Amino acid sequence: MTVLIDRAGDAPRPARPRHPEKAHRPDQPSAKKPAWIRVRAPGATPGFADTNRIVREHKLATVCEEARCPNIGECWEKKHATFLVMGETCTRACAFCNVRTGLPEPLDDAEPARVADAVAKLGLSHVVVTSVDRDDLADGGAAHLARVIGAIREASPATTIEALTPDFLRKDGALEVVVAARPDVFNHNLETVPSKYLAVRPGARYFHSLRLLQRVKELDPAMFTKSGIMVGLGEERSEVLQLMDDLRTADVDFLTIGQYLQPTPKHHPVVRFVAPEEFASYATIGAAKGFLLVSSTPLTRSSHHAGEDFARLKAARLARLEATE
Ligand code: SF4
Repeated sequence: MTVLIDRAGDAPRPARPRHPEKAHRPDQPSAKKPAWIRVRAPGATPGFADTNRIVREHKLATVCEEARCPNIGECWEKKHATFLVMGETCTRACAFCNVRTGLPEPLDDAEPARVADAVAKLGLSHVVVTSVDRDDLADGGAAHLARVIGAIREASPATTIEALTPDFLRKDGALEVVVAARPDVFNHNLETVPSKYLAVRPGARYFHSLRLLQRVKELDPAMFTKSGIMVGLGEERSEVLQLMDDLRTADVDFLTIGQYLQPTPKHHPVVRFVAPEEFASYATIGAAKGFLLVSSTPLTRSSHHAGEDFARLKAARLARLEATE
């Protein structure tokens, strides 16, 4: 049976808002950025243009664009893009995040091959792959992520892979599937201190995320684990220090700390711009607490300089092993 639909008389549909759950909230105050937050606007450099072309040709999404990352000019110039797989629509609605929210499209079976081909064309020695939250899928998308990791391995065996995963809340067995795919780094961000979860990350549970990271180390003690937080959301310094202790108890190797930036007036406000010296002091304290590596600067992002940091991470583990022999 053929159904003809006459669209000529349809009134144009209003564009769906990017964050429907936030659309009716009052605007939050937007604080003026201090001098230390300013970044270069993405320029028309050959590296940036190549990255842009390869991303478009492969019909891929990147968190660099979706999250409006301030480092995109610097990273793309060096052909470092962080791929956002499983669609551009997230089933959570975190108060800090600019990724579109709603009901996602079905998974694209051809995506793993396209990501792998893009990684090869970009010539990446280290790649970060992340995803939206897919609470709608029985396994949270774990098998798809494992397929992406497998496809990259096959196409670029020398490339090291960092999986920046969702929390797989209420998805029994999902974490194990990703760990079995053997990414070189398992990254899962706590994002903020526990007292801010309700306001900032309401769909998540702090202790579940912590336990997830601990479980990775139990499953594969050799796998590097990494987590990150944003500061400037109203957290106390003592809470950040407690969070560091929690991560060390879960044997997490690498911590990233960066300044939260408000993507739109509908998102959580920036409560405070944390001074560079305070970031530096977090790095010093983190090192003393036993992390192999701490990256703590205003513009630190989970995937910023991830390749260079992976090399430093390996060197730090080696140095520690040698020191204990
Ligand atoms: S820091 Fe990460 S998300 Fe931001 S532009 Fe660089 S690779 Fe992309």
